[in-house]
Amino acid sequence: MKIATILSRYLILVLILSISNLASGQNKPLNLKYLGVAGWEISNDSTVVLIDPYISRPNLSELKKSDVVFSDSLMIDKVIGKVDFILVTHSHLDHLLDVGYIAKKTGAKVIGTQTSINIIRAYNIDEDQLYIVAGGEDYQFKNISVKVMPSLHSALRGKHFFDDRTHDEPLTYPLKDGDFVMGGSLMFLLRIGNSEVLAMGSMNFIENEIKGLSPDILLAGVNGSRYEIYNYSERLLKLTNYPKIILPTHWDRYEPYDDVEAHEKARRDKVEPFVKEVYEISTEVQVIVPVHLKTITIK
Ligand SMILES: [Zn+2]
Repeated sequence: MKIATILSRYLILVLILSISNLASGQNKPLNLKYLGVAGWEISNDSTVVLIDPYISRPNLSELKKSDVVFSDSLMIDKVIGKVDFILVTHSHLDHLLDVGYIAKKTGAKVIGTQTSINIIRAYNIDEDQLYIVAGGEDYQFKNISVKVMPSLHSALRGKHFFDDRTHDEPLTYPLKDGDFVMGGSLMFLLRIGNSEVLAMGSMNFIENEIKGLSPDILLAGVNGSRYEIYNYSERLLKLTNYPKIILPTHWDRYEPYDDVEAHEKARRDKVEPFVKEVYEISTEVQVIVPVHLKTITIK
């Protein structure tokens, strides 16, 4: 066989392999940007997914239940561009406040509980964008799939927190602080490219729902309420088969993005003890501590 023929066959083979790599999502880096609280932007070159995006930072200590609350549209426009999907774990203000504005602006599809969807219906969003889930669904969408799991909210107020209020009817604009009732709790396994990301929105989980999952990346809730849960970190890691990469989430204290000092304090007080806990359990995993609005790229 002539050298030229061998070379051209080799080139065709390389081309086929690269196409199949692209088709299976290989060689596609995954980007994860921490939006603070439990918020993330997870993206590759084709799809952008948000989890619990909370970009407006109203002063929560001054808010009364009857106060009207608005999204900080200027800030959101600065931080958020194209969005394809928004996954919402529950309807509290620090998870849902900005979802209505972002969905209306970007046309993103929103996946959440009936209560979350009824709250954001106040923004007059196209019904085709809205997906009500109860937990248990495993939905295939274009470029991603999402397994939805029932979950539990953090055991706030020393385990006395309980809220079974829901919204069975659409709400109207403008929304009030008191509208953002919990409305149930979900967890999501997002399959994107060739990665699986398990996203928590709270410091709790239902053991049987996450048992046997093997996510590559775990967004692990690390706020102080995790100490209310029996053997939290060890059980969480074991149940999810010791994910290669662990990203602590839900640890900042709702301060604006430019309050760097507050975020550093939260990192010292809440994240560092978690990192220590994790490495005492396993040295095979890697904990990456996110910085607000900085992108972490996983190759
Ligand atoms: Zn909450």
